[in-house]
Amino acid sequence: MSKDPLDELLRLSHEIGREDRKLTILGEGNTSAQISDSEFLVKASGSCLANLKAEQVTRCQVETVLTLLEDRPFTNEEVDEVLLASRVDPESKKPSIETMFHAWLLTLEGVDFVGHCHSVAANKILCSPRGRDFAGHRMFPDEIVCCGRASVFVENCDPGLPLAIGIREQTANYVKQHGEAPRLILLENHGIIALGKTADAVLACTYMADKAATIFAGAATMGGPVFLPQEQIERIAGRPDEVYRQKQLNL
Ligand SMILES: [Zn+2]
Repeated sequence: MSKDPLDELLRLSHEIGREDRKLTILGEGNTSAQISDSEFLVKASGSCLANLKAEQVTRCQVETVLTLLEDRPFTNEEVDEVLLASRVDPESKKPSIETMFHAWLLTLEGVDFVGHCHSVAANKILCSPRGRDFAGHRMFPDEIVCCGRASVFVENCDPGLPLAIGIREQTANYVKQHGEAPRLILLENHGIIALGKTADAVLACTYMADKAATIFAGAATMGGPVFLPQEQIERIAGRPDEVYRQKQLNL
């Protein structure tokens, strides 16, 4: 029997929220899980990942949230109204202001869980001029296995609707170019988003992105980083033993 999406979402949230991991503090970050083609679960506004409880998770209708990404400007008040109207249970808490990008990313093929955090290591790069460089390259094989061939890079946007629109645009470009959903999205001056079929895949991508960021920053002080050649990235990404390993790791 497949695992319960709410249990998995809470486990994912508690792991990302662990203070010693330095991925989020206070109310930072948010998580979501798809439960059907029409509904998903998302962290409620003002709650904390580290000790997220079931009643702080809101069940939302995908279609209602996605109306906000249609081509017309919405005021902040309208965004709030639509987010409140998207709740399946009107008694449940208001969904996170970042619910728009979660709703859209969960419509991608192979994406059932999304985890967003403000990793200190990643933000050292994403708040520097080298964010795009970090997104476009790979330095070691496990980075490819857990974070994909490359990351999507989204230039600095205001949180909420402008950020969701920026993420949709850059992610759609990535899907067009690579023929598959990305595993990692890097947000300039903000943080990272990991996508996956399972909570474990999102965790593996998050931890590996955090590790890669530490390595990038270290290598940058030693005359590097030295990036893997593109042919090698393609070879590793397509290797049957790596695909097997991804399966074993539940990625
Ligand atoms: Zn954020």
